[in-house]
Amino acid sequence: MPLYDYLCAGCGQRFELLVRASSTPACPHCGSTALDKQVTAPAPPGRSKAIIASNRAAAAREGHFSNFSAAEKAKMGVR
Ligand SMILES: [Zn+2]
Repeated sequence: MPLYDYLCAGCGQRFELLVRASSTPACPHCGSTALDKQVTAPAPPGRSKAIIASNRAAAAREGHFSNFSAAEKAKMGVR
């Protein structure tokens, strides 16, 4: 069941709702069904890649490979 962020057009409250496919979500504050679904963006892929890259750069500086997967370590000949 997906969890969505909604902004109620009736009372302006913002809230999270678990939405069942078969049901119409309604505002828990005023009961209005005039809801705007808010896009809860996960971290954009570019950004998480940059985070992984910086973690790995830091690990390399510190001389360990804890941020690399086993497969990647094998490729580099590192145990
Ligand atoms: Zn409301």
